[in-house]
This record gives sequence, structure tokens and C-alpha cells, in this order.
Amino acid sequence: MYLKSIEVNGFKSFANKMIFKFDSGITGIVGPNGSGKSNVADAVRWVLGEQSAKQLRGAKMEDVIFSGTEMRKPMGSAYVAITMDNSDHSLPIGFEEVTVARRVYRSGESEYLMNGSPCRRKDIVELFFDTGIGKEGYSIIGQGQIDQILSGKPEDRRELFDEAAGIVKYKKNKLETEKSLEA
Ligand code: ATP
Ligand code: MG
Repeated sequence: MYLKSIEVNGFKSFANKMIFKFDSGITGIVGPNGSGKSNVADAVRWVLGEQSAKQLRGAKMEDVIFSGTEMRKPMGSAYVAITMDNSDHSLPIGFEEVTVARRVYRSGESEYLMNGSPCRRKDIVELFFDTGIGKEGYSIIGQGQIDQILSGKPEDRRELFDEAAGIVKYKKNKLETEKSLEA
């Protein structure tokens, strides 16, 4: 599985619709300070269900919407879509290619889509369990995060190992079963 493309439209500094295309292998994104490199990583985190504005380097969720410049009016919504190549079927879904998308309006209204169909945030989060790709996964390592991992609580570090070992979904199923037995 690999990331084939990222589409952004109205997300942070990307006022225009932009599509980044990637091949398998390594891609570097380079550019001057403030040109939007980290915003690309934020877009991926956001579409995977990030709910913390702080994690996205903003104060409130609305800050992910293009806020305008001297030359350009602010946008009313932000949209991000990422497409994964799933020809190795790493993602437990019967498609060779999976696109997950998220849109949010200034009103706060928002939606998630999986291959074009509306879905819940939970569906996207669960799709990426045990792949390392989820917003809590280890495939997006932000500045300062290594320090956080090294100096963090053992329980928090454990979550990372669970993800890498591929047992998050089993733990989650176990928890849900226990809950339903209690009820
Ligand atoms: P560095 O090399 O310093 O890490 P970078 O390429 O990672 O820089 P980013 O942090 O991705 O840069 O981009 C910062 C830019 O994005 C700033 O110019 C900021 O004004 C702009 N930006 C962030 N949020 C928005 C928004 N909602 N609307 C418009 N511009 C935004
Ligand atoms: Mg940066």
C-alpha cells in the first residue's frame, strides 16, 4: 500500500485545488519557510480524523480553512482527499484504490467520505487500524514527537507498539465485547 495522491482545496494555505501525485518509493517535499510543507502533512492528519486543532497547529478547527490574503477572499470550506493504492489489500476493503476525504464548512458542519460515499469518522479511523497510517499511527511523525515518545508515559508508548504489532483492532474488539457483556 502506498499514498498515491493528496488533493487539497481551501485547506490552510492551499486556496486553489491542488493535487499532489506520488509514486511508490520516497518523495521529498521541499520549499522555502512558510511555503506550506507542513500544511501538507497537516492535511493528511486532518483527513484521517484529527480532532485537535492544536495538533494541526491552529487555535480552532476553523483555522484549517483558507483564511484569505490581501489578494484573495477567504474560502467557505476546506476539503482534503487522500488516495491510497490498495492493490496489496493491506486495507481491509475490497477496492484496489481507496480514497478518503473530509470537508468542513465555517458553520462547523462537516463530512467524511470513503470512495465517494458519506461515512463516519469512525469508519475511516477503523480502516487504518494496525496499518501505522492512522492519525495516531507512526507514519506521520511530527516535529518534537520523537522527544514525546521517548519521554512519554509507558502506557502511551505501548499504544505505538500495539499499532506496530497490528493488535489494535483485536484489543478494540475485546473491549467492545466486554462492554456489551456488562450491559
Ligand atoms: P517551515 O519551513 O518554516 O517549516 P513550511 O513550509 O512547513 O515552513 P507551513 O507551516 O506548512 O510552512 O505553512 C505556513 C503558512 O501557511 C503560513 O504562511 C500561514 O500563514 C499559512 N496558513 C496556515 N493556515 C492558513 C489558513 N487557514 N489560511 C491561509 N494561510 C494559512
Ligand atoms: Mg514546516
